[in-house]
Amino acid sequence: MDFIKVKDLEVYANHGLFEEEKKLGQKFLISAEIGLNFRDCAISHDLDKSIDYGKLSHELKEVFTEKTEDLIETLVYKLVKHIFDNYEIAKTVEVEIKKPWAPINLPLDTASVRLFKKKRHFYIGMGTNMGNREEYLEKALEEMEKAGLKILDKSSVIETKAWGVEDQADFLNRVVKVESFEDPIDVLHILQKIEIDLDRVRIKKWGPRTIDLDVLFVDREIIYTDELIVPHPFIEEREFVLESLNELIPTYYHPILNKKISKLYEEVKK
Ligand code: ATP
Ligand code: CA
Ligand code: CA
Repeated sequence: MDFIKVKDLEVYANHGLFEEEKKLGQKFLISAEIGLNFRDCAISHDLDKSIDYGKLSHELKEVFTEKTEDLIETLVYKLVKHIFDNYEIAKTVEVEIKKPWAPINLPLDTASVRLFKKKRHFYIGMGTNMGNREEYLEKALEEMEKAGLKILDKSSVIETKAWGVEDQADFLNRVVKVESFEDPIDVLHILQKIEIDLDRVRIKKWGPRTIDLDVLFVDREIIYTDELIVPHPFIEEREFVLESLNELIPTYYHPILNKKISKLYEEVKK
């Protein structure tokens, strides 16, 4: 990967938890490192194919000073989000904010926060079998966009019989491809909040639901934690998921089973 870096940009601002910090202001040092591919720019001499670090520095200053915040954690997140939202070519972003004058009554070099984020592709399985099902699918997509998840691709909506607990209404299902710089666990939490906001109530395992949003794949990553398992554990057993995945990514290899989606889809139909 190629990198563009701005180091210790000096900005004076009135951020901080303490009244004195808000009143008097203090010096902050901002560093940003962006991972991208600037080979095209290097060969064609076209700066539009890279990132202009002068312009970037002015933007960082502007975003940093537009509003007084209590916490540098909030500011570092804002800067990372600004870079991803405005520079499509950024693949990774690291931002550090240092406070050389942090008011702690002890001599120190700097106190700082640093955030590193990486752009990933997520495949999200959507399902609904209660209320106005089309509307729940639409609303969930709207909420995902609002939460900063960028929808890149959508499979067709299909109507399917309930799986697992069969004595319930038919489902509408689809899979969407989403881009986000948020970590997988944070994407899960964003999806869970949307489920709750859209009237999801968990009464019975695999029971009826207004909306279910499952993380199926995250790039080619394998994740196994108490809260999140990726790839989603039941993909190979669920025709309704494989039909939608097969429409979007038939040649994707399941990173654990090491079989193509098209093959898994064929097998589940037998
Ligand atoms: P299933 O997971 O078999 O499709 P479900 O969608 O009905 O069943 P939920 O009640 O929505 O199950 O979720 C149960 C738990 O699954 C959640 O609390 C969540 O932490 C966990 N979970 C683990 N891996 C994933 C994943 N990849 N996507 C969504 N939830 C997951
Ligand atoms: Ca599910
Ligand atoms: Ca779920």
